[in-house]
Formats: sequence, structure tokens, C-alpha cells
Amino acid sequence: MRYGGAAHPLGRSSVRGVFMTMTRIKVPLLDLQAQYAPLRAEIRTAVDGVFDKLAFIGGPYVQALEAELAAYTGATHGVGVSSGTDALLVALTALGVGPGDEVITSPYTFFATAGCIARLGARCVFVDIDPKTYNIDAGQIEAAITEKTKVILPVHLFGQCADMAAVNAIASKHDLPVLEDAAQAIGARDADCRMAGSLGTAGCFSFYPSKNLGAAGDGGLVTTSDDALAHTMSIMRNHGMEPAYHHEILGGNFRLDGIQAAVLSIKLKHLDSWADARRQNAEHYRELFTERGLDGAVTLPWVRPGVHHIYNQFVLRVAADKRDPLLAHLRSHDIGCAIYYPSGCHTQPALKDQGFKAGDFPQTESAALETLSIPIYSELTDEQKHCVVDVIAEFYGA
Ligand SMILES: *Cc1c(COP(=O)(O)O)cnc(C)c1O
Repeated sequence: MRYGGAAHPLGRSSVRGVFMTMTRIKVPLLDLQAQYAPLRAEIRTAVDGVFDKLAFIGGPYVQALEAELAAYTGATHGVGVSSGTDALLVALTALGVGPGDEVITSPYTFFATAGCIARLGARCVFVDIDPKTYNIDAGQIEAAITEKTKVILPVHLFGQCADMAAVNAIASKHDLPVLEDAAQAIGARDADCRMAGSLGTAGCFSFYPSKNLGAAGDGGLVTTSDDALAHTMSIMRNHGMEPAYHHEILGGNFRLDGIQAAVLSIKLKHLDSWADARRQNAEHYRELFTERGLDGAVTLPWVRPGVHHIYNQFVLRVAADKRDPLLAHLRSHDIGCAIYYPSGCHTQPALKDQGFKAGDFPQTESAALETLSIPIYSELTDEQKHCVVDVIAEFYGA
């Protein structure tokens, strides 16, 4: 597929006085149109079905998706909820997290992870990241455990699982539940080949449109193989109601829409092939960066041996003083790019009561200053990948 827009001269090389001009194309960070186009008819038929059955909230489409995602991840239950954030909130609440409790997590994540802990009146006990994977440094978790620790919450950032063997070993030694923030990692597998969402006590997924399995709006799901926890979460998402108009526990409206579930069931059938395309794009980028001699200037994503990375993001690491200029250079050449994330959660003003300060998590703070994501979506063409790497090579004068 061609991406329209103006062609700009990329650069010129003189061959015996003849100037050759390469054309430049637009490369968005994500192209959801390219994903939707081939599925359009099927999705629209499914949405019609939701209207015909008036299955707007809960109902057969949601139940089907829950069963499909439980089977996909290898967990026993899937509990559809209104967003990835609400998946975290419902799961943490069902695990009993409340005022005075502590939850161990990574400060280098989307704010929702820490925000949900704080909203429950609990304390975020941040553990710095492993600078190679950007995931929680499992070697530092044990020292952070106190008698108030209620849950360990690793995040599988960018589509690569945290070191769950190490996390689970510490958790079982201290008899603590593990909640996976798998919002960016649907279909990712840990080194033991098990899927994200089946690696801990429960796993939280987001269907925000830019996630690898994206809805047509907000949506989320919690997976678990704990029957009692699944039951608690399934009533908690509906005001803790069971039976009708009897409320034994306090819940809220955290329900998933039928339209979202119908769309997601269709897209789920393509998820693995989309992930394979992202993985191939990643390998292609690695070749192109090496060919252009950019290995020294740009650190490419490091994959823990044996892990199946699904590349929700392809994150480059560069010198801190080059990061923002490179971002501006890419954008000025119509290459989509973004920073995930420009600061750690521990310095967010909304969490100031948690008592952290700049300097507390040096690996997180360095990553926040040195990382940059480039397009990796499944439909990316060879021409587009070449263009991205050409523009980066031009920046470095390579
Ligand atoms: C997207 C995301 C969430 C929140 O999901 P929403 O569906 O946007 O509420 C939570 N944690 C991480 C790591 C995420 O990337």
C-alpha cells in the first residue's frame, strides 16, 4: 500500500554529474486504516449482529470473547471489562488491595499501572527497571517486600514479558499474588513458552485501539485460573451484584460492550499473523541498522533469550542529547515516532503524596531521556522501513 502525501527529496548523490533524487514517503507510527480495510465487511456484519440481537452490554459476544481469550492465553477464565485501566483496578480490588497496603511495580510504565494502586489508597513501591529490557528488575524485588506488601505487579513493557520465573519464585516464597500488566503484551510468551496472562495469579489486558489487539473504542479483560477470583471480578464489574439487586461486595460499572467484543473476536483470529509481521519487521530493522553502520549510535531492543516478543513498540535507545533532535528530525520528515515514556511514574505530580523524588530510580530516568519508538505495525512495507532507517542514517551522517 502506498502512503500518499508529498514526496520530498531525500538526498542526492552525484554519479558522474547526474543527480539521483530518492523520493520520501510518509510513515505513520501506526496505520489502523491498513489493518481495517481487509476486515471492513466482516466487522460491519458482526456489528449489525450486535444490533440485531440487542447484545449491547455483556451477552453472547462478550461471553464468546472471554472464552476465546481464556483459551488463547491458557488461563481458565476471561473477565471482560471496560478498559485496561479498569482491568487493573478490578483485579487489584479483587485481590484485596486497599488503604495501607503496598503494591510492588515498575515506575517505567503507562501511568494507569501506578494510578490504579494509588486510587485504591495503597502505596506504590517502585522497583527500578532492568535497563536492557525496560521491565522490572526482578533482582531488586525481594528487598522491597514488607509485611504490608499485598501484590507484585510486573509490567510486560513494549510486548516483552518481564522475567516471570524470577518474579514468581520470589512471590511464592513470600506467598504473594502476582498481577501481570499485560496491556502491551497480548500473545507474548515468556521463556517457558507460556503466554502473558497465564504467568501470574491474574493478567490485565487493554484493547485501546493502539494495542496489538485494539477495539473500536475502550475495552479490557482480566485472565485468571483462580475460580474464586474470576467470580469476584465478574460481579465486581457489575456493581458487585448477585443475584439481581443484591450487592454483597462493592463494585462499579466496569462492563465490556458487545460491539467491542464482536470486533475483537474477529481481530483475534489475525493477532498471531499480525504479531509475526511485527517480529519480521523488527528483524528487518536489525539488518537495515547494521547495514547502515548505525549499531554504535542506536541501541536496538534487546530480547531476553527464549522470549517471544510481540513488539507493541519498537524502542530505540540513543544518547540523551541526541534523542529530542532525532525525534524532531524524524517528524520533520513525516516519520511517526513517540516517546514511551518521557518520565517515570514516580515523578508524576498526581503521585506526589507517594513520596518519591527525581533521582530515586536512575535506570528509569535514563530510559525516559534516551528512548524513542519508531513504526513497527504489521502492514509496514519494506519501502517504509528503508525510509525510516535512511532518515535516521541521514541524522547521524551515516
Ligand atoms: C494501555 C495501558 C494500560 C491502560 O489501558 P487502557 O485500556 O488505556 O485503560 C495500562 N497499562 C499499560 C502498560 C498500558 O500500556
